[in-house]
Amino acid sequence: MDGEFCVVCGATDRPLTDGVCAECAADRTRLLSAPERGVVVICPHCGARKVGEQWERAGTSPVLTADDLTPFLRVPREVAVRRVRWEETSATGTVRELVGTADVVFRGVERPVEVRLSVRTEHRTCLDCSRKSGRYYTAVLQLRGGLEKPGEKSPALHARLDRTWSALLGESRPDWRKAVSWVEERPEGYDVFLTQTLAARAVAKLAKQRFGARVKESASLVGRKDGQDLYRVTLCLRFPRPEASGPAPAFSGRPLER
Ligand SMILES: [Zn+2]
Ligand SMILES: [Zn+2]
Repeated sequence: MDGEFCVVCGATDRPLTDGVCAECAADRTRLLSAPERGVVVICPHCGARKVGEQWERAGTSPVLTADDLTPFLRVPREVAVRRVRWEETSATGTVRELVGTADVVFRGVERPVEVRLSVRTEHRTCLDCSRKSGRYYTAVLQLRGGLEKPGEKSPALHARLDRTWSALLGESRPDWRKAVSWVEERPEGYDVFLTQTLAARAVAKLAKQRFGARVKESASLVGRKDGQDLYRVTLCLRFPRPEASGPAPAFSGRPLER
């Protein structure tokens, strides 16, 4: 490398690419950019984000976070983004102006880079929520007491089923919980309406294994669609009253979700 030097700064002790050192190349390269305007589509009911044709991250806060903003960054091939801190500079209606400060690495040189981004949020009801608002369901979980005599009286029975349901939900997978559309109170217990039959069966199985429920499944034909019979599945879950001496199930103490 004798006699070689950066054609920009004249440094002789640095590796060169096309005669320019990494520091000088970083100075002359746009290390990060963002589109003029980004759009984030959010479901106002569940917080899901629309990514392409898919709805993702249901249950997240509707507030914009780095997870919404950082994907807008355009990162050149030789640049790696270490971290980005976002700060909102102004907001009008549904448009937010933000400045991101990114630590990037370019050919071994680390630099902070500022990027401006303007993001418009658009609210649209996601598929799951529009199904739920249309009172769409494919399965019902009937939460009931056991068949012991004498029968359990209403306030005690409902309180027990309420606690049991909370505990059951607490142990359920997130996608099963997501399938729960709404809950209706009945004199003999609760009816839980779900948009996914497989999730309903999975919750019923969990109720049997962990909470000693007896499960009875039945199906009723509700119509035809696209040449296919449409069935709704009813799963009756009977939770026997725990013996006074028996161990009580571990309750999460959360109220019944509706
Ligand atoms: Zn140089
Ligand atoms: Zn939604």
